[in-house]
Amino acid sequence: MSAHVEITPETNIRALVADLPIAEEVLSEFGLHCAGCGVNKYETIAKGAEAHGLRVEPIVAALTQARLSGRVPTVMNEDKQPLRRAPGEFNRRARFRYVVPVMSGKGGVGKSLTTALFAVGLRRAGKKVGILDADITGPSIPRLFGLTEPLGLEADPTTPPGQQPKPLMVPATSRSAVEIVSSNLLTDKEDTAMIWRGPILSGVIRQFYEQALWSDLDYLLIDLPPGTSDAPLTVLQSLAVDGIVLVTMPQRLATMIVRKAANLVHQLKKPIVGVVENMSYFVAPDTGKKYDVFGPSYADQVAELAGAPVFARLPIDPTLVALADNGRVEEIDDPIVDTLAAHLEAAMAARPAKPAETISLL
Ligand code: ADP
Repeated sequence: MSAHVEITPETNIRALVADLPIAEEVLSEFGLHCAGCGVNKYETIAKGAEAHGLRVEPIVAALTQARLSGRVPTVMNEDKQPLRRAPGEFNRRARFRYVVPVMSGKGGVGKSLTTALFAVGLRRAGKKVGILDADITGPSIPRLFGLTEPLGLEADPTTPPGQQPKPLMVPATSRSAVEIVSSNLLTDKEDTAMIWRGPILSGVIRQFYEQALWSDLDYLLIDLPPGTSDAPLTVLQSLAVDGIVLVTMPQRLATMIVRKAANLVHQLKKPIVGVVENMSYFVAPDTGKKYDVFGPSYADQVAELAGAPVFARLPIDPTLVALADNGRVEEIDDPIVDTLAAHLEAAMAARPAKPAETISLL
């Protein structure tokens, strides 16, 4: 008999599933629907458990049992519940180490996809990540991560007796444990038109920030609506933003809009930490020849306007689109996500320390 991959907390999930296919089902039982996903290529059972807020011991035990019996054992409910929501330990105050809005001058430049790539890269680097999807113009973020279930609600446990408890949103959890709150997860109809005026939009962003049961996160990424309307900017002004990422693409118009955005951001005195030029070029798979499909790159000029470095130039990538369209963005196998994450990490590390912030739920 061939030697088996040993089952310990330090076992790599991908390697285990390759050796013991039933492990994928066992992990799913625990809500770790990630055995086949790109993030978990790098993840151990212990890290996967931690990311999902679970104890590792019952998972290792269940996997061991499955190897012996060839069947998926029954998993006790208490072993499937994230620790952070254990009764009694309930904690309404989440701390975000870094709050990073992602902004673009106009729609369709790939801002949502870029936000998702940052999240995937940061998760691969072992960070706890959430995405506040404030781009109500489309269902991009939930769709990229394949999320369709409406968000759960929990009654505010600190409601004084005699008062109606306020419902708080429970973030959706992606396969690789990215927490996501999105207006598109408030109903189960993905196509419900979200026509919200500015002031309501501000309110929505604030609510998603304050009235969702986020875990303590290393990064809260905010996918802002495109453009430079007042609403998101007003909100930015009032949030403890650490740095803004600007997404652009090589078009003159985009550059002009980005200039406007950069000016506004400067007025707000929130630093832009980096620029990502998306759909920067296309490399023909057959010839390897590089084409500037949308014209020459303006990334350097935009970066200069924004007073921030170019984090990356992303190519037009049909493989990425296929993953994105199928809700499998986490399966991307491209070092570009590590590059994005590393740049953001470096930019954050270079910033002056801020006092530990605790958000309060009103
Ligand atoms: P935005 O959030 O700026 O409106 P999205 O992220 O929703 O833009 O992207 C718009 C469309 O462009 C999506 O269909 C997306 O899949 C596609 N897209 C984005 N980036 C790329 C890329 N690098 N290569 C190919 N298609 C892309």
